[in-house]
Formats: sequence, C-alpha cells, structure tokens
Amino acid sequence: MCCDLKSRFLLLYATQKGQAKAIAEEICQQAGAHGLEADMHCISEMDKYNLETEKDPVVIVISTTGTGDPPDTARKFVKKIQDTTLQPDHFAHLQYGLLGLGDSEYTFFCNGGKTVDRRLQELGAQHFYNTGLADDCVGLELVVDPWIDGLWLALKEAFLLQKEKEGMSSNALSSSLSAAPHVGHELNLSSEVQNLKLEDERLRSSDVLTQKLVGIHLVASARDSEPSLVHSVPPVSQSALNIPALPPEYIEVQFEDTHGENPHVSSLISVGTAFEVPVTKAVQLTREDAVKTALLLELDIADTVFDYQPGDTFCVICPNNVNEVEELLQILGLFDKGERFVCVRVKQGTKKKGATRPQHIPERSTLKFILTWCLEIRAIPKKAFLRALVECTSDAEEKRRLQELCSRQGASDYTQFIRDSNVCLLDLLHAFPSCKPSLNLLIEHLPKLQARSYSVSSSNLYQPGKLCFVFNIVEFLACPARPVSRKGVCTGWLAELVAPLLHCNKDTLDTKGGSSSTEKISIFARPNNTFHLPADPSVPFMMVGPGTGISPFIGFLQHRQKLREERTDWEFGETWLFFGCRHQDRDYLFKDELRCFLENGTLTHLKVCFSRDSSTAEVASPKYVQDVIRLYAKEVARVLLKERGYFYVCGDKKHMADGVSDAVVDILSMEMEVDKLEAMKILAVLREAKRYLQDVWS
Ligand code: FAD
Repeated sequence: MCCDLKSRFLLLYATQKGQAKAIAEEICQQAGAHGLEADMHCISEMDKYNLETEKDPVVIVISTTGTGDPPDTARKFVKKIQDTTLQPDHFAHLQYGLLGLGDSEYTFFCNGGKTVDRRLQELGAQHFYNTGLADDCVGLELVVDPWIDGLWLALKEAFLLQKEKEGMSSNALSSSLSAAPHVGHELNLSSEVQNLKLEDERLRSSDVLTQKLVGIHLVASARDSEPSLVHSVPPVSQSALNIPALPPEYIEVQFEDTHGENPHVSSLISVGTAFEVPVTKAVQLTREDAVKTALLLELDIADTVFDYQPGDTFCVICPNNVNEVEELLQILGLFDKGERFVCVRVKQGTKKKGATRPQHIPERSTLKFILTWCLEIRAIPKKAFLRALVECTSDAEEKRRLQELCSRQGASDYTQFIRDSNVCLLDLLHAFPSCKPSLNLLIEHLPKLQARSYSVSSSNLYQPGKLCFVFNIVEFLACPARPVSRKGVCTGWLAELVAPLLHCNKDTLDTKGGSSSTEKISIFARPNNTFHLPADPSVPFMMVGPGTGISPFIGFLQHRQKLREERTDWEFGETWLFFGCRHQDRDYLFKDELRCFLENGTLTHLKVCFSRDSSTAEVASPKYVQDVIRLYAKEVARVLLKERGYFYVCGDKKHMADGVSDAVVDILSMEMEVDKLEAMKILAVLREAKRYLQDVWS
C-alpha cells in the first residue's frame, strides 16, 4: 500500500477466524479521517514489512487460538522474534501499540498478544500506547472501541516525538496534523476500559456521524415501555446518536448463465487435507428423558491416510441449516437464483483499503453453496454490519432502532438484545422486515463458517480404521428475539444426518449397536495437540471428564487396555477417572465400558458423582467432579508431586474447568503447606511442564 511518509504507520494483524483482520481493517479505515495512513499487512507477509528497519510506529492486532497460542498466521513471526540469539536492544528503535484479542473463559487469556508483547519488550521495543486486551467473553468492542479511539492521539504524539528525536522542525508535520490536540499532555493510557482515554471531541466528529433526532418519533406504548430488540426507551430513544461511519462496500456479485459443478467441500479448508469418510455407526448414549442428548458417531477412516492419537481433536466441516438458507434466499428475493453460479469480485474503485475477495468464498460456485457452506449465517451481527443494514432499511422507525443498536448511546442495548441474546441475521431480518440487504453486503459482513472441533473418543490401536467422537446436540430455546427454537449448526446437522441409523438402547445404553449407512462427512486434523497419554506408561495419571468431557478418556483407556494386552512385560502406572453427570440412570455415558475397564484393571479408580439425583445419605454426596477431587486431596498431591504424574481435564470450560483448577490449587496449598499464591505458581509450573493438561470448550 502506498503511504505518505509523514503520517504512515505500520499496521499488522494476526488473525485466526478473521476478527483481528476485521479490527485492523476498521483501524485502517478510520486512519484516513485522522490524517494518517495505515500500511496494513497480515503478520505472515514478512516480505512486505521489516521490523528490523521500521522507523514509523507499529500497531499490532493479534488474536489467540487453541490453548493460548498465537494464530497460525503469526507462527513464523513468533518463532522469528523468539530467536534466543537476538540482542536485548534488537528492537530498541521500535515503538508500538498492541491490541490482543482473547476469551477470558480460557485459562490463557489473550496469550497470543501477551507473548508477542512480552518478547517485543524484552527486545527493547517501546510502547507508544498501552496494550489493550479485549475479551470476547463480554464483548470485544468494550475494549476495542475505546482502544481505537485513543489510538489516534497516541499515534500523533508518537509521530511528534519521533520527529523531535530526529531533530527535525515539527512545523511541517504539525500542519499536516493540525487536528492533533494536547500535544504535550501525558501519555498515560491503560488497557482497562475505564482508564482508557476516550477520543478528543474534535476528532470524534471526523469519523462518526452525529445523528439528530429529527422528525422521528418513537411512540412507546404501554407494551413497549420496556426496551427490546425493536423498541427503545429514553434516554436512548431521545438521544442524538454517534453512529460509526458507513463501511465502504467492496464486493461485487454477478450471476452467471453458465452451469457446472460446485467445488468439493474439502477444498474449503485453508490448511491440511480434508477427508470425506462414511459414518458407520450412530448411538444415542443418553436416555430420552435426559436434559441433553449425547450421540456417539463412528467414522470409517480405513481408506484414508487420516491418522490420530487418543486425545487428539479433529474438525468436522458442516453446512448451515437448509431451511434457514432457503428462508434467507426468500427474504433476499433470490429464491429462484439459488442454483445459479455467481462470480464474486472486489468492486472496482472501492474506497475500502486493501480490499480482497474473502478467501472462504470460492471463485465460482452457486449462491446456495455460498450460503450453505461458506458463510456463518448464525453469526452475531457486528456493529459495522448493523450500520450497513441501516442503509437497506426503508421504514423510519426500524432504521432509527438499527442506528441506536450500532451507536455509542445504544451500546448496552446492543449487548443485551443482540450479543447476549445470540441474535443472528435471520432474527434481525424478521424483526426489521423493511430491511432488505443485498447479497454483496452479506458476503462482506458474515464471517467464514468455521468447521467444528471434536475430541476423538477412540484408540486406533483398539479399533483400527475407526474414529469415534461424542457430542451433545446443542439446543437454543425460543426467546422474545427469536420466535423459533434452534439446534446448533453442526450438532443439529449431524443429528439429522444420522437419524436413520441411530441406535438407541434405552435400557443398557449399549454402544455396540447401530448400523452402517452411506452418509459421509468431511473431516480434517487439528494440529498442535499436547493432550496425549504420558510417553512413559509407568507414570500414573488422573482424568477429569464430566459429561461429554469423558470422550478423550475412552480413547485413552481403550489404548491402555490394548497395550496391557500386548505388552505384558511393561509396567503400567495407576489410572484415575473422575466422571460426573446429572442422573445415574439417564446420562451416565459409557457406564458399561467403564465397568469393564475397572474390572480388567485398565482403570484403577473410578469416582462418579450425580448432580441432580437426590441423596438419602445423611451426609450429602458430592455433586460435581471438583467436589469429588477434593475428597482425594492426598492422592492428587501424591500423583502430581511425588510421582510426577499427569492430570487431564476435559469438557465444559465455563462451569467445570475453573472449578477443577481451583480445587487443585487448594489441594496443593493444603498438602504442601504453602499459601494460595504459591500453590497457583506450582500449578502454573505443572501446566508449563504439560503435566496439567486441559481440553476444554464452551
Ligand atoms: P453452534 O451453532 O456453533 O452454537 C454453539 C454455541 O454458540 C453455543 O454454545 C452458544 O454459546 C452459542 N449460540 C449460538 N447460537 C445461539 C443461540 N441462538 N442461543 C444461544 N446460544 C447460541 N463438543 C462436543 O460436544 N464434544 C467434543 O468432544 C468437543 N470437543 C471440542 C474440542 C475443542 C478443542 C473445541 C474448541 C470444541 C469442542 N467441542 C466439543 C465443541 C464443538 O466444537 C462445538 O462448539 C459444539 O458441538 C457446538 O457446535 P454447533 O455448531 O452445534 O453449535
């Protein structure tokens, strides 16, 4: 990208699912209004920038993936800066600001950003602006928006300092930066939202539209006295609104008259190889009256080179729900064009900087294919998308409400009625019937439909050529913003796909039944997994896996059983499993298999708890796995500390994994007679040594 040297800054993004890229694009877009020019690159494009010689300020937006890893696109970069031969002043010339994206439900929150930040500091680089850490758990925008607002002033101060250092007259510069106020004031910005320096009012007016409430009256009837997705109440309904600038359109869609074949879904992944494999067995593991329905699917991978170890996770490529796709086509007025091939291009003369055709959209495919396999149509619409939808809405009241929802004044309404309600595009189009977006807008704003990850629940030694996995069918109930209930995109699709071969043995939860089908699904490997059995079989280990979290441990135990049969001269360490579910007779997954493992000595200790069964015992039985673990404090400390064993946790991250690590910290503190802080440090060391391992999801 061509840049004016006086006001250029280098903008790098490291993205996994596209969020960091979208935020970098937003920064790039806003830069112009501040008299600055962003030289934007993906951090992996290392031939397009050079930090060793970079003189201008650098802005980095970086997300986190897996268990605290930087995104795949940042791997090379991180490896390069982690070179231990680099001198402590290697980046002494560099000034930078870093925005990390993460999810605080994961243990290593924003670790991708923190790793890069820490290393740049070690190599002498200096912050011109404090690091922001945005949390997807509560809404990235809570930190991202004010961080970007404060960035402009910080950048301008950085430019002035840079010029002063270079001994140049700042006259020329200050004329180009005439909008920069308070040049001399202290740069003391914090990543905490409340401490963030909000933008200067004069700058604010250059990138946001101030909308006056002219001629639009929102009459609140008694029914509407409470705010909702479609109704607002004072003060929001009476406020002048600061709404984001309209993102420039950059995609052009052309319908073609040609015919042909859609690409194979396996071509949709950017790394690795996808395999189309038959589903050979489907078993319902829970009784009909269980709160959640868990299914086990068996895949035949014998005719592929797909390989795995117990504990690995893999990804399933899934489509959107066919009815939702058709409904969307209907609303867009494109129902008759679903089977037509479309050509997606970057719009000529677009004002969007660095616009490229989204990589997840094939060059040629039918419209239905794009809506079915490429776009996450259930994604929660971002504020920029709402802003763009305003322009496609004809009804004045609907228009105003959409403006409110993307405005600063409507931030809490956005959180409550869109984000926390998990509203998707279809919900919005139902709620705002005069909104008729164009297809190109959908392609510009809907993210890539992501493949879903699952833990392998089998051993290739025990069942050669097979791969099993277990999942709960995710169900979302209807709510005011969503009149229909829905199933999870992937789990709903899988459940429907395997319904004909579902074998449900209500009495025994028999997992050996089921019949084969011709249904196939596409899968691919998920790299970087350390969640494996200890290399040394004589080392003891403990497994904690309530609900579907038991899945990888069935693979571990199958593997161990086979090894015990085959390697009679080997020494095997003790094995513990902590399992929990709601009801003993409704959702105790793999009950029979676990009994067999226990009987044949593969499993040394099985500790189970039931959270919803009433107890007749005088002393209430523990409800959750973390409560049971506390009862075995001495054994946990012995296995982890004395015998250098392993501790595995799998399943729900929100409610379980944190409870388990709190229990382990308390145990370490008690057994080692150290305070809690010291115990937390010991746990951190165990994590670092990959002896306390988690495979958790929401
Ligand atoms: P989605 O449609 O993607 O919905 C999932 C989530 O989105 C919900 O939990 C909710 O938070 C939110 N959501 C979306 N729409 C709504 C709405 N309308 N109302 C409320 N909330 C909404 N899962 C397993 O069952 N077994 C496993 O072994 C397993 N292993 C995993 C391993 C890893 C490393 C990871 C990252 C995840 C794993 N998961 C596992 C989770 C799995 O990948 C999927 O996220 C899960 O199956 C749901 O997918 P889905 O497409 O059906 O649901």
